[in-house]
Order: sequence, then structure tokens, then C-alpha cells
Amino acid sequence: MTVESEILPGVHPEKEVLLRNSFLYRTKVIPQGERIKLCIQCGTCTGSCPLSYAMDITPRKLIALFRAGDMESILRSKSIWICASCYTCQTRCPSLIKVTDILYALKRTAMEKKLFNKNIPTYALSYSFMKCIYKYGRLNEAQLILRFYLRTGLWKIINLIPLGIKLITKRRIKLTSEKIKAINDLRKIIKKAETFELPPEKEELAYIPEAVGYKAVS
Ligand code: SF4
Ligand code: SF4
Repeated sequence: MTVESEILPGVHPEKEVLLRNSFLYRTKVIPQGERIKLCIQCGTCTGSCPLSYAMDITPRKLIALFRAGDMESILRSKSIWICASCYTCQTRCPSLIKVTDILYALKRTAMEKKLFNKNIPTYALSYSFMKCIYKYGRLNEAQLILRFYLRTGLWKIINLIPLGIKLITKRRIKLTSEKIKAINDLRKIIKKAETFELPPEKEELAYIPEAVGYKAVS
């Protein structure tokens, strides 16, 4: 085995360096985002997470993989899309690591690097929602559901057909909507917002003893 084909201890392959740099750049917009390096692997985040049972890589393991130099596994994981942003892990972390905000940074990096499954329900729902808003300037429930199931499995919509017919006949939902008057202005705002990069925020990290460990559950 040549030196080039080996991954030397402490040396990351080029792909990992690119992914890592991109993620670390995003952590700069998180106040004290660099504290990710202070993880003590205590597992409080995973133990507190109401959705860790459904994750393929738990929050503690995500940080362990970051340290180990495996950004690609993190960015391809379902966990970053399963997170419900409840902030429990973040408020309980004894090292004051912004776990939830870091998960957001991972999501954005995964999107930027196109390393995620576009049919994952969380992404499919937000994408379908934005498509409706872009098209009409308002939400159309029927279109949202149709677009969502077109991405996640059209066959799943069969069970919803009787309910959909009832809702349409009782005029609770419509198949199409009228566009709002200022649709072109709204589209310009959305296009502009898509180009924004958030500036780093200046915020003091507040330690909340009542939200940590046993005090939080007593
Ligand atoms: S709670 Fe904080 S210190 Fe503990 S494993 Fe999670 S991120 Fe690391
Ligand atoms: S913010 Fe996400 S990762 Fe953290 S505890 Fe809540 S669901 Fe779990």
C-alpha cells in the first residue's frame, strides 16, 4: 500500500476536507458554534432526544463522527432530517454545545453539497410547501399533499382519496387556488432570500442550570 492510498492518522482525504470546511464555515454563523470541539461524549443529548430512537446516527454519534473525520456519513444520515428542533439536547448539553443549531448547519451543508435523499419526508414537505407558495403566493392544501406524495410515494395517497373527496365536496379544500395580486413581488422576495448568507450573530451564551441534568426533569 502506498502512502497516497493510505489515510494517515490525523490526515483527512480531500473530499473530507472540503465537506468539513464547508460545514465549519456554516458553524461560524452560530454564536459559539466552535464549541462543537468541546464535546465530552457524555451522551446527554442522545439520552434527552425524544426522536433518537428513530435516528440512524444519534446526536452524540454525529459529533463523534465529526471528530473521526467522517462528514459524508453525517451528511447522508436521516438523523439531521428527523430532528424536530425541540432544543432539548442544546439546553441540556453540559459543554454548552449548540447541538440543534449544529444540526441545522449540517442540513444546510447536506443541501449545498447535494448529499441527501430529496424524497426524505421532511425535505419533501418543505419543498412542496415552498413550491405552492411560489406558485400561488398562498398555501393550497390539496396541491401540497399531492406534491408531497409525488415525492414520497404516490401509492400512499390512495388511503386519503375518500377523505379528500369529502373535503372537496364540502368545500373545505380546493384543487387549485387563485394567485395573490402581488405574486411577482413575492417571487422576487423569495429569489432574493435564497441568495442570503446569514451574518455571524453576537450573542452571549447563557448557561441555564435549571435546564441541565436532573434539575430539568424534577
Ligand atoms: S450532551 Fe453535549 S457534551 Fe454530551 S455528548 Fe452531547 S454534545 Fe457532547
Ligand atoms: S433538537 Fe433534535 S436532536 Fe436535539 S433533542 Fe430535539 S429532536 Fe433531538
